[in-house]
Amino acid sequence: MSIKTANLGFPRIGRKRELKFALEAYWAGRSDEATLLQVARDLRQRHWRLQQEHGIDVIPSNDFSLYDHVLDHAVMVGAIADGYGWTQGPVSLHTYFSLARGERGSDKADCGCANHQGVGRAALEMTKWFDTNYHYLVPEFDAGQQFSLTENRPLDAFLEAKATGIHTRPVILGPVTFLKLGKARDGSDPLDLLDRLLPVYRRILAELRGAGADWVQIDEPCLALDLTDRERDCLTRAFTAFAEAVPDLRIMVASYYGAYGDNLATALALPVEGLHVDGIRAAAELKQLVTQAPAHMTLSLGLLDGRNVWRADLDAILRELGPRLKDRAGGQLQLAPSCSLLHLPYDLADEVALDLELRTSLSFATEKLEELAVLKAALGGNREAVETKIAASVRAAAVRRGSRKVHDPLVGGRLAELTPEMAKRRSAFAVRRPLQADHLALPPLPTTTIGSFPQTAEVRAARAAHQRGELSYLDYRAFLERETEAAIRWQEDIGLDVLVHGEFERNDMVQYFAEQMSGFAFTRNGWVQSYGSRCVRPPIIFGDVSRPRPMTVDWAVFAQSKTSKPMKGMLTGPVTMLQWSFVRDDIPRDEVCRQIALAIRDEVADLEKAGIGIIQIDEPALREGLPLRRADWAAYLAWATESFRLSASVVSDSTQIHTHMCYSEFNDIMPAIVALDADIISIETSRSKMELLNAFGDTHYPNEIGPGVYDIHSPRVPEVDEMVDLLRAAAERIDLSQLWVNPDCGLKTRAWAEVKPAVANMVAAARLLRQRL
Ligand code: GLN
Ligand code: ZN
Repeated sequence: MSIKTANLGFPRIGRKRELKFALEAYWAGRSDEATLLQVARDLRQRHWRLQQEHGIDVIPSNDFSLYDHVLDHAVMVGAIADGYGWTQGPVSLHTYFSLARGERGSDKADCGCANHQGVGRAALEMTKWFDTNYHYLVPEFDAGQQFSLTENRPLDAFLEAKATGIHTRPVILGPVTFLKLGKARDGSDPLDLLDRLLPVYRRILAELRGAGADWVQIDEPCLALDLTDRERDCLTRAFTAFAEAVPDLRIMVASYYGAYGDNLATALALPVEGLHVDGIRAAAELKQLVTQAPAHMTLSLGLLDGRNVWRADLDAILRELGPRLKDRAGGQLQLAPSCSLLHLPYDLADEVALDLELRTSLSFATEKLEELAVLKAALGGNREAVETKIAASVRAAAVRRGSRKVHDPLVGGRLAELTPEMAKRRSAFAVRRPLQADHLALPPLPTTTIGSFPQTAEVRAARAAHQRGELSYLDYRAFLERETEAAIRWQEDIGLDVLVHGEFERNDMVQYFAEQMSGFAFTRNGWVQSYGSRCVRPPIIFGDVSRPRPMTVDWAVFAQSKTSKPMKGMLTGPVTMLQWSFVRDDIPRDEVCRQIALAIRDEVADLEKAGIGIIQIDEPALREGLPLRRADWAAYLAWATESFRLSASVVSDSTQIHTHMCYSEFNDIMPAIVALDADIISIETSRSKMELLNAFGDTHYPNEIGPGVYDIHSPRVPEVDEMVDLLRAAAERIDLSQLWVNPDCGLKTRAWAEVKPAVANMVAAARLLRQRL
């Protein structure tokens, strides 16, 4: 049996985020194209060498991208709409970045929502890549779409690596996944374009073969989704065409993020030499394939979690896998991460400030490569040489299992005592509603905002100075109090009904809470690409989560003391905290979510006790947590909504619970939205012209709704009339008595010069409508 180590993709941004800084310097006009391209070349070379040094046999090329690999692919096949200055031949960087960021550059909001677009109207839409926090640019087609090879990027990458003496396996996005991820401007079906696209692939593959490539990796992660018969048929047709065109180029089909499931027969029947399986998300399928896949097939086993930061127990993997390999005697095997390492930070070297026990339990991209090499040695009959490394991994796993930092009996105890009543408000909404109305005395069409106000350069500078130790805590605090108070005065002046404190003290809506909870850790350099040059450093949930002390109460109380209007308390919900973190893998995700829910519940209870009568629990990530397969939706939505209710339902009937979600399709998850039982939900609707509200109207949504009337993604100040029109459109779908008036989302990415007139206009719009009631 031949065993190799293989990697599917390496993080592009660089150990010190070199790509980010090079891109931003280039965009700002501080450097030129040659400099940017040189940085990119250096990164590719460094990453290839690093993989080689770590004993990876099959090293990917063309996994690098200046911005996004889906955009690269669209540009490569000439799927570029008119108006970007391209007609034929190689695509300029100017065109490339115009597609990515729009003509006028980008000021994408950084709240993490999938849909926050820049002001440049021309930028392609951006959305989440499968169920990850990586965003890709959505390719656009139309029925008349023609494709052409603008430049053979996989070939260029292959040759570049070859010139440095490294033989690579180029990565190419598969045609069906590519078309399926795109959208047609004219409503046609992108899959109709397959036959026009295949010749471009055939040429790419033939040129690669001509240049000496023996294998290519063709990514078709759509195989982890629910597919139609037609889509399956397209896969078969595409790969049959490849096999006919370049019979002696071997193809590794890679799907990941989930099982092949009902697509397995299709995948196995493809005329290709290799199949990759995600053994983390589909452990049972991996075992099945090891014993059942045709003998001639090279299996790529995704044994290490490419989506998560935990170090593997290598002995456990070997014990599980070793005996099964007898079935594949004489076969070809590749040991790989479950998916590309794109979603992991670069390495652990800088994490010297992490708790040593935790650091020993972690494995980032570079460490995953080392783990693969150890597995190969052990399976290849060379176990003695790596025995100490295996033993170390076993020890790390044991430490984690027994650690008192991980397991908190108090949290376990609380979880064991959960009752269904705890996830239910005391009374139904119909009972709560008049009590709240009494308590809060709000006018019809109450006005409010979503929470944050502009995080100005001044606010960020003060936070940075405080962090560097240059601004004392007391001075920083005084500064924040002045900002908060000024925001309150302004809200009173323009006549908002429900005020917010502005969130000036928060760095990020997840990190701010995670930093104050037990069970979360933070890296120094654990950056992961979110889109383009933007990186995030997700917190790591390593242990049982609890809230040692109140997190937001003093700010809420301070703010409430400055006004007689109701002040909303602002919290981030459990699902969003979970979704935007690296989550421990030793207990189920829903259990972690319930732990966070209890921590937030404690905060909700304390806010209520401190006299805060309205509490908002944001869940912008609820929808993006949906599993890839429909069949798994119900189970997820059940625990996700239960967690939300668990955090909210501690309050009395007269305390009002709000939630907020960003741009979402609600149609197919309406029962779950109802199940949240929030007294008010605010959503992002302005750009959909209130069409998103149809789902609420059609299902006779029982509680109250704040459909956003101010598009906060644009610097434009909306006029009173526009917002009146939007509210009228809302009133056609929802009874006026259920409507609130608010912007689409938080205002932290905007400037005060835009926010002040826009929100004043919003209040004026609500008043105009009230007069006509
Ligand atoms: N309260 C948060 C804010 O206003 C909500 C952000 C979000 O929905 N992403 O910033
Ligand atoms: Zn939002």
